[in-house]
Amino acid sequence: MGKWVYLFKEGNADMRNLLGGKGANLAEMTNLGLPIPQGFTVTTEACIDYYDQGKMIKEEIQMQIFEALAKLEEQQGKKFGDNDNPLLVSVRSGARASMPGMMDTILNLGLNDVSVEVFAKKTGNPRFAYDSYRRFIQMFSDVVMELSKTFFEGILDEIKEKKGVQYDTDLTAEDLREIIVRYKSVYKEKMGEEFPQEPKVQLMEAVKAVFRSWDNPRAIVYRRMNDIPGDWGTAVSVQAMVFGNTGNKSGTGVAFTRNPSTGEKGIYGEYLINAQGEDVVAGIRTPLPIKRLEEDMPNVFKQFMEIANKLENHYRDMQDMEFTIEDEKLFFLQTRNGKRTAPAALQIACDLVDEGKITPIEAIKRIEAKSLDQLLHPMFVVKALQEGKVLGHALPASPGAAAGKVYFTAEAAKEHHNAGERVILVRLETSPEDIEGMHAAEGILTVRGGMTSHAAVVARGMGTACISGCGEIKIDEAAKLFELGGEIISEGDYISLDGSTGKIYLGDIQTEEAQIGGNFERIMAWADEYRKLKVRTNADTPADAANAVKLGAEGIGLCRTEHMFFEPDRIPKIRQMILSTTEEERIKALSGLIPYQKQDFKGIYEAMEGRPVTIRFLDPPLHEFVPTEEKDIEELAKRMELTVKQVKKACDELHEFNPMMGHRGCRLAVTYPEIAKMQTRAVMEAAIEVNNERGFHIEPEIMIPLVGEKKELKFVKDSVIEVAEKVKKEYGSNIIYHIGTMIEIPRAALLANEIAEEAEFFSFGTNDLTQMTFGFSRDDAGKFLDAYYKSKIYESDPFSKLDQNGVGQLIEMAIKKGRATRPDLHLGICGEHGGDPASVEFCHKLGLDYVSCSPFRVPIARLAAAQAALK
Ligand code: ADP
Ligand code: MG
Ligand code: MG
Repeated sequence: MGKWVYLFKEGNADMRNLLGGKGANLAEMTNLGLPIPQGFTVTTEACIDYYDQGKMIKEEIQMQIFEALAKLEEQQGKKFGDNDNPLLVSVRSGARASMPGMMDTILNLGLNDVSVEVFAKKTGNPRFAYDSYRRFIQMFSDVVMELSKTFFEGILDEIKEKKGVQYDTDLTAEDLREIIVRYKSVYKEKMGEEFPQEPKVQLMEAVKAVFRSWDNPRAIVYRRMNDIPGDWGTAVSVQAMVFGNTGNKSGTGVAFTRNPSTGEKGIYGEYLINAQGEDVVAGIRTPLPIKRLEEDMPNVFKQFMEIANKLENHYRDMQDMEFTIEDEKLFFLQTRNGKRTAPAALQIACDLVDEGKITPIEAIKRIEAKSLDQLLHPMFVVKALQEGKVLGHALPASPGAAAGKVYFTAEAAKEHHNAGERVILVRLETSPEDIEGMHAAEGILTVRGGMTSHAAVVARGMGTACISGCGEIKIDEAAKLFELGGEIISEGDYISLDGSTGKIYLGDIQTEEAQIGGNFERIMAWADEYRKLKVRTNADTPADAANAVKLGAEGIGLCRTEHMFFEPDRIPKIRQMILSTTEEERIKALSGLIPYQKQDFKGIYEAMEGRPVTIRFLDPPLHEFVPTEEKDIEELAKRMELTVKQVKKACDELHEFNPMMGHRGCRLAVTYPEIAKMQTRAVMEAAIEVNNERGFHIEPEIMIPLVGEKKELKFVKDSVIEVAEKVKKEYGSNIIYHIGTMIEIPRAALLANEIAEEAEFFSFGTNDLTQMTFGFSRDDAGKFLDAYYKSKIYESDPFSKLDQNGVGQLIEMAIKKGRATRPDLHLGICGEHGGDPASVEFCHKLGLDYVSCSPFRVPIARLAAAQAALK
């Protein structure tokens, strides 16, 4: 018989895979002797088993739950479902990785019509008893029965209005009683049965609901965004209740040991008097800063600070803690390593190293590589900002600058983002259903909620600018407008948010690249010491290249040459080349392009100051270059002394049924060797000249794309060598150059041993390799992948997270076969995956020489490479 249930005192922090983060930490805090309401945790394995059984909790697990419950009753001296001295519990979810707001907690479970009266009498506080019961009915209905909260909130608002009060704390016992009657009748009406009165039934239903919530749509989206596997499952903790809603000597709060936005040392948090559970984060009333507790309840504050410090020292990291005060008695309900912004993560890591609490290696391991993205996020252009009109001011919940058009629903935000707009999501408050809209937004503005509200926490995690709790806003969601600072802002109007200061501006304020500071350089220097993988960048222009070097790029892994052809003064020449009918004409058109290409390459070589640069020869299908606008067609006709009709016909002939698999890549160089020859001349001349002018030792790396067969590569390579040698002779140069290929067609991976006979290096083009391996095009996959996530066929987008099982196998095979032929084969990856931490780790394991990614992801790759090396 397996062990499916652990009392808090049986667990510890190392058991987070089994007990979930929350359960493991509750156990750890119990062992530390802290004031923790006791309880037990049903394991993540039980959750997996629930699914294996076809969504049923098997007998054995149920039995163990009731055994643990019996022990809890004994400890507490109360009985679950008892009419004299009832034990009330909370039912809490907690996966291995924290998934904020993904699964809701149920409080005050065990109450029913009879015990609520006993409870009222026993505590001498009927108001409190009824408040607890109405909360329980609402939470149970919402979380377990999936009855919309709005029914219940509507009733609450109605009664508040009838009584002429603003806050729920102003309601009397009698009012609450009336609310309970109304709640129960809504329940009966909607569910067709009475609200469940049997506590054991309530408990098992609640546990099942937590298990079910692991697979709700928002959890699936969250997992995909955060690389959390679907087979981890969630644990369930059942814990004796303590009450923050007994009156003015009670309350509940959330606090961090250091500031989660800036990393500044010192306690940081909020609490609400006479409140329970999520009241603080739900933003129903504006919470008080934690420092106020020192005045209100000095003894409680002192004890709170002692425990907070103890926890930080114990975990040696910034803690995010949840606590409740019941009649001036303090209880801790949760601690975890706090989520933080990237600047805060760096500050805290550096401070902890300086405080002697952690080593640089630990500092490297702790920083989430992906989050470095945030540091590189735009700021407002100072001058533009000075001219901007401030509409209002609220809490700076997540830093960064954002400007965009206002939308009031997550759907609208998502839709307009997909249409290419920059979007600001404005909401009363956000909830987990809004997650995709929040993801789509440049910035988020909420009317309600504090620094720890859902919007704030989620935005910080995403690195999206967020301002919360802007109570001055008068919002009319139905009319799609809001009023602030004397202005009416309607849907589609521009506003700008400064998530670092909390200021809201009118209009579209210009943003600029972020400044990176000392902590960043320190952490990056530590990372560079430990990583084995080199990090290159994908850059096509000198400006991008220079930016990437600033961010630590050690070379260019992919310089695409086609982008250079789209410039207005060049496109006519390439069009002329494409429509040429004879080789002479083509050569003539191409020789017009050589000076441009050579200048491009010289610019890039100069920007890279001697660092290696891999230049990929022309790749896309030619029809991408042909004119579609009437006026361009006419111009081209004139240029080429053809009729418009002739030009149109020639363009039409370039049409392909499936251009992704059409006339592109090295196939262009096979049909028109002149193209590869022109590009070779430009590369070689540029390198030789820059070497002569600047004293560098550049060795050009020429990369032939889309190769699937050795002879194909050999054919193109022969033209390249022919011209390269000619140029060397013309310049009297003995420059060394390298010719390699991309591995992006499965056949090339299968025959890598043969390909390596002709290639000095391989660069895995994982965008194409993924699309060819899966057999779906990356331009079309968006249309159906959502259905695949929903049906749990795929968990993540294979174009952003490398499919290690499938595509990864091809890479591994190509490496083995390639190196068997050519032991010093140089290996890299240049797909989008080069900047994805999980994929970087995979590349490290496979022993690649480098990864190459977009400039802004270079720091991510550097850190991820160090983390992979330290695993
Ligand atoms: P989440 O994962 O969303 O933070 P929690 O399980 O932490 O959910 O529960 C939310 C809040 O409910 C806690 O911060 C705490 O205030 C309250 N809560 C949970 N369990 C108890 C309990 N046993 N006694 C009192 N309050 C509780
Ligand atoms: Mg929650
Ligand atoms: Mg919590």
